[in-house]
Amino acid sequence: MTFTLSDNVKYLKGVGPQRAELLADRGIVTIEDLLLHFPFRYEDRIHFSRIRDIKPGGTYTVLAEVVSSGTVRFARSRGQVFHMAVRDAGKPGEPRTRPPMGMLHCKFFHSGYLEGRLKEGQRLVLHGKAEVDAYHPTRVEMINPEFELLSAEDEAADSTEVGRIVPVYEAVGKMSSRVLRRVIYGLLGSLEGLTDPLPAAILGRYRYPSRRDAVLAAHFPPASLSVEALNQFRSPAHQRLIFEEFFYYQLGLALRRRESQREPGIAFTVRDDRIREAVRRILPFKPTSAQKRVLAEIAADMEKPVPMHRLLQGDVGSGKTIVALEAATIAIENGYQVALMAPTEILAAQHFLSSRRIFSGTEYTVDLLISALAAAERRATRERIRSGKSHLVVGTHALIEEEVAFGRLGLVIVDEQHRFGVMQRKRLMEKAAGAAAIPDVLVMTATPIPRTLALTLYGDLDVSIIDELPPGRTPIETRLTTEEKLPAVWDFVQREVARGRQAYVVYPVIEESKQELKAAMVEYQRLSKEVWPALRVGLLHGRLRSDEKESVMQRFRSGELQVLVATTVIEVGVDVPNATVMVIEHAERFGLSQLHQLRGRIGRGSVKSYCVLVGPPQPSEESQRRLETMVSTSDGFKLAEVDLELRGPGEFFGTRQHGDTGFHIAQPLRDKELLQAARHEAFALVEAAEKRADAGAELRRLADYLGSRWQRRYQLARVG
Ligand code: ADP
Ligand code: MG
Repeated sequence: MTFTLSDNVKYLKGVGPQRAELLADRGIVTIEDLLLHFPFRYEDRIHFSRIRDIKPGGTYTVLAEVVSSGTVRFARSRGQVFHMAVRDAGKPGEPRTRPPMGMLHCKFFHSGYLEGRLKEGQRLVLHGKAEVDAYHPTRVEMINPEFELLSAEDEAADSTEVGRIVPVYEAVGKMSSRVLRRVIYGLLGSLEGLTDPLPAAILGRYRYPSRRDAVLAAHFPPASLSVEALNQFRSPAHQRLIFEEFFYYQLGLALRRRESQREPGIAFTVRDDRIREAVRRILPFKPTSAQKRVLAEIAADMEKPVPMHRLLQGDVGSGKTIVALEAATIAIENGYQVALMAPTEILAAQHFLSSRRIFSGTEYTVDLLISALAAAERRATRERIRSGKSHLVVGTHALIEEEVAFGRLGLVIVDEQHRFGVMQRKRLMEKAAGAAAIPDVLVMTATPIPRTLALTLYGDLDVSIIDELPPGRTPIETRLTTEEKLPAVWDFVQREVARGRQAYVVYPVIEESKQELKAAMVEYQRLSKEVWPALRVGLLHGRLRSDEKESVMQRFRSGELQVLVATTVIEVGVDVPNATVMVIEHAERFGLSQLHQLRGRIGRGSVKSYCVLVGPPQPSEESQRRLETMVSTSDGFKLAEVDLELRGPGEFFGTRQHGDTGFHIAQPLRDKELLQAARHEAFALVEAAEKRADAGAELRRLADYLGSRWQRRYQLARVG
């Protein structure tokens, strides 16, 4: 029987209805899905390590035979440990002429079930890290090593288990790596129709193997390949498969970009004295040269008859808001409406207040649309939006609700963009539906995105960067301390407050939890009653009602509250220049980008600001590195790079899981060069297709493939 890529996995040998269901839970439905479930590592089971060569600290694969085994039980509460001693196994059936050359001891915790399985004489493959046995310093042991039992059949010729470089898969439910290995091995032998979706020219240029060869080699590599290269995903097969993923992703971006450049946009009038004057009039200060440059970039986009898709990156406090309002002024002066969407009600309210202030010398009407408004008020606001009376509408998700329709939407500004899903942004753009032209989109983010990821996440956006802070800022002094120094920290806060400043104290959770973290609600009680009974202390967290939140913020802004105890709700946008002290407890619980955002709430005026990070007495290596980086730099891009390196790209994709970047085998960080190359090729092809018929035909073929196989990711690529 032969299989093609679109066949269902349930017809495969070794996969019944039950296993098919397990696979489906993981999104593996077709043969192609299964082929894309690549091994995450490879084991050299041709050249096994010999036990006498094992050194503590190394990782080894051993072909072993059990010499003795048994369970050691501790007093009830402490559980049990399964002990096993093994020696090198010879060839199956080979008489043992020489004495055992050494013994390896293994311990398995919580593994009473191993009792009957790892009996004397059992042959198995062991893989694990060798360590010195704490109780017998001369012994080397492995703790909870991975193992696979071998049967006679396993060791026969043409085995999937030994005598080759063996793929190790992530288990799928109860389907172990070993089961998957057999199923996939069987499949590879009867696979048809693996045509190559990469252009021949690219295959030639990079000397990549065909797709068929690459898929076969990535699952069952020929013995001639280097296991080390395989494990680093650097074999030719891997490189090709990674390139392919990036290529199609980038092709999606390139096509999306071309498509959007063909859509009818609004050609705003920009070079007009009246408009220039209007923009100048709203400026409360002299813009920095970076602000001038990015406004020029934005204005040039707005002038063009194609929709703008621009990302405005700028570190916290670099002054993005005023630039956005300058762009808004251009749109409003052209007779259009502007929508500004922020991720939280606090931030929306803040933008509303500051844009009203900045527009106070103009005739523009500014509205706030958040779900906290009373129904009648919301209805009235929606009516003003529909009729075109309202010029700038600031809001949260409430802006993309069904009932909201704009009379003449010309510009969409999305703040702190990575908190919004792609679909939400798209829906906001569609609020102009019915109109002949698509609104311009300006996306703002204060979370600097490392360049490598920017290409993946925002590959179809143009990027403007504000790389300069407004003048007159004094650098923030950041210190790292621990719990037992807190009394001194509180004294310091009190002294600063006595000098007329304000302070934030930040906690990772709202209420007490099992994790033994200090919680904002509890600490608020303690700080306000015991530590600073004479100070005016407020509490802000995400679970307050919006009007409560707004009133606390208002009292802090006005200076009535001197200290604000808060959770990360203050992370974005909050702008109170008189607040110059921030204490962050359990600082190790926050990511670097998050700490950077939090710290960005201070240092907004000309007075020197202080940030105190309270960490654990014995932080993990990673925490220590993170906290020290915070102390040593305030450069958001540098922090983002370190964050990416320490915690992987999940953070930037709005999820913590590694796998959720949407790629099967590619990793933007590890595979930077391939990403660059793939991007180059994809964009070059789309460009060539404009000029050459053969490239055009090739592009149509690839776009079809993209459409049929990569729809999900293409959706992801429809950013902005
Ligand atoms: P961002 O949104 O980029 O974090 P904001 O737009 O909130 O930064 O600006 C931070 C602070 O700097 C605000 O108080 C703003 O009024 C002020 N600011 C912005 N641009 C300038 C400038 N060119 N000169 C002086 N102050 C500025
Ligand atoms: Mg901002």
